[in-house]
Amino acid sequence: MNDSRRLGDCLDGQRFWEDVQSLASIGALHPKGIRRLALDAQDNQARLWLAEQGRALGCEAYYDDLGNVFIRRAGKDSSRAPFLIGSHLDSQPQAGIHDGALGVVAGLAVLRTLHDQGIDHLHPLEVVAWTNEEGARFVPGASGSSWFAGQRDYHEIASSLDDSSIRFSDALADCLDLLKEHGLTYRPKPFTPHAFLELHIEQGPVLETLGKPVGVVSGIQGVNWYEIEVKGQANHAGTTPLQARRDAFDSAHDLVSALKAAVFDQDDDLRFTIGKFSVWPDSVNTIAQRATFTIDLRHPSQTVLDALDARFHDLTKCQWGGCDVTLKVTSRVAPVAFPDSLLDVLHECARHYCPDTPELVSGAFHDAIHLAHVCPTAMLFTPCRQGLSHHPDEHIEREDAEVAARVLTDAATSLLG
Ligand SMILES: [Zn+2]
Repeated sequence: MNDSRRLGDCLDGQRFWEDVQSLASIGALHPKGIRRLALDAQDNQARLWLAEQGRALGCEAYYDDLGNVFIRRAGKDSSRAPFLIGSHLDSQPQAGIHDGALGVVAGLAVLRTLHDQGIDHLHPLEVVAWTNEEGARFVPGASGSSWFAGQRDYHEIASSLDDSSIRFSDALADCLDLLKEHGLTYRPKPFTPHAFLELHIEQGPVLETLGKPVGVVSGIQGVNWYEIEVKGQANHAGTTPLQARRDAFDSAHDLVSALKAAVFDQDDDLRFTIGKFSVWPDSVNTIAQRATFTIDLRHPSQTVLDALDARFHDLTKCQWGGCDVTLKVTSRVAPVAFPDSLLDVLHECARHYCPDTPELVSGAFHDAIHLAHVCPTAMLFTPCRQGLSHHPDEHIEREDAEVAARVLTDAATSLLG
């Protein structure tokens, strides 16, 4: 394809934006935002929406054992490995409409552009929606992509329970039945893709601060997730002297202070978050018998993550007010650096629309972190207002998203052959 790097100029921006809004109507919250928890009715509906869009373009829709959905535009050589573009359709409980969804719709826009312009390519192109990226309903996240990339075992994923004790495997079975009912083709096994590209909102402030519509992502920092349980003894809040208590909340509080001291980082590269904290029996006049909390720990360096992991294990072995402390690692994802060969393609394509395109490391994990283990993988970011995401107020500018989708289109055409 001559001049293939300018195909992005032909992308139908109006249609792209209509797709974004159309998808956002599935699981819409009022007055704005979405709620599509992994494998719930809305998330499954979004899968069908994608399949329907693909079929209208003459593509076949597939699903695999994890409910990942692929819409495939045939290549001139069907024996070639498919080139994948996509992201996820599930969301946080109170989410903005672009996190994940934008990447899937942008993949669709690439596919539409190739279709509209009658462009043939050597490799098949598949737009993919990965199952349960968010990890909001079933912990940990990125179930579909981590399984596809051989990073996590099916049985480990399948046994995860949501807050209503619904098993992942049961929710998944309902989803797979639905996909089958709607005529999607079952393709159980993962395959080795030719390459994978993911466009995502930045979820941070860098691009907005720089005033750039698009950024090339050079890699993703590593993430460790922990669950900590502190067990004490419940007793009467009025009659039990402080010295005689085994107060699970008090001990958890002291432990949190020690953990925070351990993660102090002068360079501010490290991220440490306690996003869940609960006490039991959760009564105003009863000493807590049990306290549980989670830790989300992130850093671009595996060495730093390993050192802190060891420190966390040591700290939880200490005495904490006579309470028993257990620490469980619920997820470990190593940092990745995307290959220069793909970063060069993205920079070259981005230059046409955005001189001096910045390069940045992703603070959030994405499906791409897993795909990077099986095929050349890279990402593009587009800015979101004030870096806000996981919130209905998440906002992007249409013009920025269009530029990013045009870059993606050009990168795809150059890689599709
Ligand atoms: Zn996302």
